[in-house]
Amino acid sequence: MKFGFDIDDTLINLREYAFHIYNKNLKQNVPIDIFHEIKKVEIHEAFGLTDEQGSTMWNSSLEEIYFTACPPYPGAVETLQELDVQGHEIYYITARASEHGERTKKWLMEQGFPVTEGHFFCGMKDQEKVKIIQALQLDYYFDDKPDVLDTLSSDSLKVYVKNQSYNQHLKIPRITEWSQLKEIISS
Ligand SMILES: [Mg+2]
Repeated sequence: MKFGFDIDDTLINLREYAFHIYNKNLKQNVPIDIFHEIKKVEIHEAFGLTDEQGSTMWNSSLEEIYFTACPPYPGAVETLQELDVQGHEIYYITARASEHGERTKKWLMEQGFPVTEGHFFCGMKDQEKVKIIQALQLDYYFDDKPDVLDTLSSDSLKVYVKNQSYNQHLKIPRITEWSQLKEIISS
C-alpha cells in the first residue's frame, strides 16, 4: 500500500521543539503547559509577540528548528521502518520551502526515516498538497493541519489527523500514538 505523511507535527515534534528554542533565544521561561493549550498552529502569542514579530522570529530560528535536534514522535521512525520492510511505499509531503528540501530529506534519513528517491515532495502551499496526494493515489495520508485536512476527501484515500491541541474540532479518524498504526491498517 501507499502511505503519505506530512512531516512537521505529524512525524516530528517540531512546534514543541521550537517552543523551547523561543524560550531560550528570547530569554523567557514560558511553561510547557501553555504550549499544550495553544489552539493554533503558530506559537508566538505565548511569548507576547505580534504576528509580524512572530513570523520574523520563526524565520530567524528556522535553521535551528529544522536542522538540529528536533525529536521524532515516539515510535514514528520504527513504525515507518516497519512499513518499509513490509514492502509498503512511503511518501513525504511537506509544505517546507523547496530551498530546504534536500537538507530536510538528508535530516530525515539521519534520524532513521526510510526515504526513497522520488518519494519526497516539498514547497507546495497547504491547500496544494491535495493535488499531489491525489496524483500519487495514496491509500493512507496523515497530517496535523486543519487547512490541509479540510481539502481532502476521497473514497479510496483514508485520511487521519495526528492529534494536536489545535485540531480537536476535526471529525475525522485520529491517530495519537504512532504505535496505533499497526491496528489501523489491520482493521
Ligand atoms: Mg504539519
